[in-house]
This record gives sequence, structure tokens and C-alpha cells, in this order.
Amino acid sequence: MKKDLVMQSNIEEFIEIEGKSGNKFTLRKNTYGVLVSDVNNPLSCVSVSNDSLSIDLWTGCPWQCRYCHVQGTYNDLRNEGRMLKIPQRRSNFSVKEIIDALVEHPFFTSNETIISIGTASTEPFSEGPVVESTFEIMFEFIERGLKNPFWIITKGGIPKHKKQSMAKIVQAGNPLMISICWANNPNTIEPVNNNRFRGVEEAKEAGATISWHLRPIVNEWSGSERNIEMMMLWVNKNYHNMIDSIVPGGLRWTEGIEYGLTELSGIEMPKIPKKDNVKYFSPSLWKKISKLSKELFPGVPLYQKSSCCMSKMLGTPSINLVQHLCKDECEESICPIEQRQICASYNPKKIVNEGLQKIFDKLNLDIKAIGITDNYQIMSEPSMINFTYAINQTVKKELAKGGYYERKSSG
Ligand code: SF4
Repeated sequence: MKKDLVMQSNIEEFIEIEGKSGNKFTLRKNTYGVLVSDVNNPLSCVSVSNDSLSIDLWTGCPWQCRYCHVQGTYNDLRNEGRMLKIPQRRSNFSVKEIIDALVEHPFFTSNETIISIGTASTEPFSEGPVVESTFEIMFEFIERGLKNPFWIITKGGIPKHKKQSMAKIVQAGNPLMISICWANNPNTIEPVNNNRFRGVEEAKEAGATISWHLRPIVNEWSGSERNIEMMMLWVNKNYHNMIDSIVPGGLRWTEGIEYGLTELSGIEMPKIPKKDNVKYFSPSLWKKISKLSKELFPGVPLYQKSSCCMSKMLGTPSINLVQHLCKDECEESICPIEQRQICASYNPKKIVNEGLQKIFDKLNLDIKAIGITDNYQIMSEPSMINFTYAINQTVKKELAKGGYYERKSSG
């Protein structure tokens, strides 16, 4: 039954572990936002990951970034509490089986839900079977005639000989966003030192949209003015015309990230606020980047929130309600006027109780809508605080769809 299936994403188990120092850490047992924790279900390979549903076939990652959030997932820690270096399949389910289950899940909407690959597990462009599986997943959607957008977040550079495949994806009507993460962190923090922009020309020619995720910038690692300036000059010199948007950002804090950095890698925790799953980015760095961006990348949007580069690509109001929930970040971003108008045209408060109830019903949630407060909080019975991140985030994404229900009812 769909209701039972949906309630499986309301299960979150935690495990306390003790680090070498004797400090205790509370980790999530399963992937953050996972749809179904039971490993005998193909949806144990799918999770709500911010603005997308992430499909994760693998566990382990060759990149081994010391701050990786996967270190907060107990079941992904294998050798002496570490992530595997060579990715292994996390289950025997095939891509077809996972997508068969996914398309039936109420959290999935054909042609709309953004699909990311490997966001909750590994580098999706790792050479060998991982990169092949990334393309296999995208082509499985295309073979089914589904035009869902894809979002690949990578530190691996664009794989060789994939220009044609990327072009086929875009020509099939599936928007493709490739977000390249590079903040020039030292190799004590990101051991793999590679050109993250390798092959970006081919991706652009194939019709992909490229965002440069200048993150994580951490004062203690990569936040010097010299480093920021060097990166922006280098990207400007070599890849200026390839970049569709720039998205700087800081490090997220979770107990798992702190566990990985301090206990597994012996690295001192940077001074960031300890607020679960919240990123910290210093305002003075934003000012610096904003100034350089205006000089070196005029006309290229600069966003504080990563969802904005996707909203811009799709031409929809903010997919994460940034214009209402994070007004300061929206206003400080450098965003084209046409996109600002699109975002401004949608106010979720217009979705009164009836619309909100339709969202709960569509998602098969036994929740009674009460309303939306002046500061855009959802009022319901039972209250949303009784539900996990996976459910709250999915409701928010539905609410952000820019009058989806209004458009439908007005034909
Ligand atoms: S208007 Fe604001 S919320 Fe919308 S895309 Fe631009 S920066 Fe993001």
C-alpha cells in the first residue's frame, strides 16, 4: 500500500559510536533521507537529497574527501569505520528494478522530479563501472520516455567519450545540469588533485548546463583572499564561456562530518556553527567573491543557494522556495531580472488549505492541512515536526512548484 510505503521514509534510526579519542558520535544508520531503509527493497538505493531524488547504486568513493557527509551514514562505513575507497554495489538490484520501484513511489513525478546520481554516496563520474552506471540510469529514464531533469554533482571532471551520450540526453528533452565542485582545498582535505573542469567544453557543446560550485570554502582551508582570487582568475582565463552560474558555499556541519574529520582523519574541526545539516559561509568571503564575480564574470549569475542554478535552468520559480524562505540569500545573489520575475510571480500562500491538502493527498500522507503562516511555515495536524527530513523536504518541494495545482485546475 502506498501509504505504508511513504511512511517508511518517516523512519530514521541512529547509532552511537565511539571515536578513537573516546568522544561519542551519533550517526544515522541509513542514508540521510532514504525512501526505504530496508535493504531488501530497491528504494533503499534512493533518497531525498535536497532538491532531487538521489539514486545511489554504490557505496564507497575513490575521492575520500575528509569532510564527506557519507561518513555520517553508519551502514556506509566498512573498514575500521571508514568509507570504502573502491566503490562496491550496495545491493543486487538492477537499475531497471530500482527505477521500476521509483516511478511508482508517490514522491516521484514523471517529467518533473529532479534526479541526481550518487549525491548520497559517491563520485558519479568515477572511472569504470560507476560512470557507466551513471549513464545507464539516465538512459533508462529516456527509454521510458521520461523527461525528468538530471543533476550531476562532480569533482571528477567530465568523462571522456561521453559527448554523444550527453547530447542524446539533452535532445531527448531531459535538462542536464552538471555542477563542478572546486574550491582548491589542500590535499590533506581533498586528496584527489585533478582538473575538475576537464572536458567541460564537450559537455557544453552537448547542451549541458554548467554550474561552478565554489565549495566547500572553509576559512581554515581555502578561504584566503589569495586562493579565491587565484581560482576566479584561472577559471575566467580557461573556462569563462563554459560557466552558466557560480555557487559559492561553505561546509555543512553534522556529527558524521565531525566524526570523519576529527576521528578518522585527525583534522581539527573548522570553526563553524554546530547546527545539524546547516552550512556556514562567511559574509566577508561572499562580499569578496561577489565583487570579483561582477568584474570577471559579468552576466553570469552568482547564487548563495545551489537550488537557484537549477531553478534558473528550468525557468521555474525557486524549486526550494528560496525567494520566500531565505530572502537575504535571494536578495544578495546576482540573479537575472527575468528569473527574479519568475520567482516573484509565485507565492505559496496562494495555495490555501485546499491546495495544501491536495499536496498531502498526492503524497499519500495522512496529514490534515491547516494553513501556511506569514513566515511560510506549514500548519498541519499532526504537526510537520513529527516527520522526517525526507517527508518535510518533499512537501516543501511540492509547495514550491509554482502554482502546480492552480495551473492544473485552471486548465
Ligand atoms: S530570484 Fe532569488 S530565489 Fe529565485 S533564482 Fe534568483 S536568487 Fe534564487
